[in-house]
Amino acid sequence: MIVPMYDHAALYRKQKAEFDAAIANLLESGNFDWGNELPAFEQEFADWLGVRYATGTSSGSAALRAALRALDIGPGDEVITVANTDLAGSSAIRMVGATVCWVDIEPVSRCIDPGLVEAAITPATRAILPVDIYGHPADMPALKQIARRHGLSVLQDSCLALGAEIDGKMVGSFADITCFSFSPGKHLGSFGSGGACSTDSPELADRVRMYSSDGQDRSHHYRVPRPLDLQHETDGENARLQEIQATVLRVKLGRLSEFLDIRRHQARLYRELLSDLPITLPEEKPGFRHAWRNYTIETDDRLDLSSHLLDRGIASNALYSPPMHLQKVHASLGYRRGALPVTELSCARILSLPIGPHLSAGQVEEVAEAVKNHYH
Ligand SMILES: *Cc1c(COP(=O)(O)O)cnc(C)c1O
Repeated sequence: MIVPMYDHAALYRKQKAEFDAAIANLLESGNFDWGNELPAFEQEFADWLGVRYATGTSSGSAALRAALRALDIGPGDEVITVANTDLAGSSAIRMVGATVCWVDIEPVSRCIDPGLVEAAITPATRAILPVDIYGHPADMPALKQIARRHGLSVLQDSCLALGAEIDGKMVGSFADITCFSFSPGKHLGSFGSGGACSTDSPELADRVRMYSSDGQDRSHHYRVPRPLDLQHETDGENARLQEIQATVLRVKLGRLSEFLDIRRHQARLYRELLSDLPITLPEEKPGFRHAWRNYTIETDDRLDLSSHLLDRGIASNALYSPPMHLQKVHASLGYRRGALPVTELSCARILSLPIGPHLSAGQVEEVAEAVKNHYH
């Protein structure tokens, strides 16, 4: 592939000396669990986001599960969310025993349509779970108003939107809890798997921390001498961010802002080069700042376009389609084609082009040129 979607090795080489030194240090220390890297990363990540608390988890999926648990959502509860996303959201809702309720999206941001949320609220509704799809933040101010009126929690899936902003404020503290993913292809990619929950609430931070640490009070492991007994205060799972991933992420955090700027520059370049074609380009709503994890266009001939690109060594993908309500796993829930028309149309037309700090501006121009000559 001449222009790949991801190139994890290229990003490793960009900071190779720093990674090698930090990892060697960790290996020499032998502190593979309950060391100082995770708490240090959590503080640095919270500071970067401008929130009070961040808790590292083993994945974005684990972050969503821990957040739902922390908000005490379980059997009998309904959570309103969108279908044009990763399986992780609906699976987390179902795995805590709650019921997923999908509503349609706005065409421009492709995030949950706040105008449809209120009609979906029932006496069982406990939370709204918006997804900042492709890096465009959901309309958090509107959603928070609705949540306040109905006494609901808001849990934001920002796994694709680290660094996105609304009215000049970074995503991470709009919702009661915000979830992030450090899967290798995300903005801040670990060398395996990772995630985090951010919140301004000390109680919710404690609960996320407890649930993702086997229901234990983490401070137990840092006491000297370490107590002999092991107390489990709540249900939980082994879902902490690993020390070695925290080590890697601390190095990567140093260049996150620079890499976000590169994505924004590449998105501007695509917009300049791809105007006047029979494709819909992604847009930012006024007041919203995109984090450009994906550059996702929409077109009626995405299959032809993607094979045209592939012939020229250019990768593309169609994440996420088909939407969750039409997936086999959810067949028993009774959603039919046509239930979410805006979602379904968008999911049938999306195609993501390569974007990210592993690419040069020249490579982005090459992709744009190939898209153009497909239509000319
Ligand atoms: C990546 C992603 C997740 C899941 O994160 P993992 O770290 O892969 O578990 C959840 N939601 C969205 C929108 C994502 O993009």
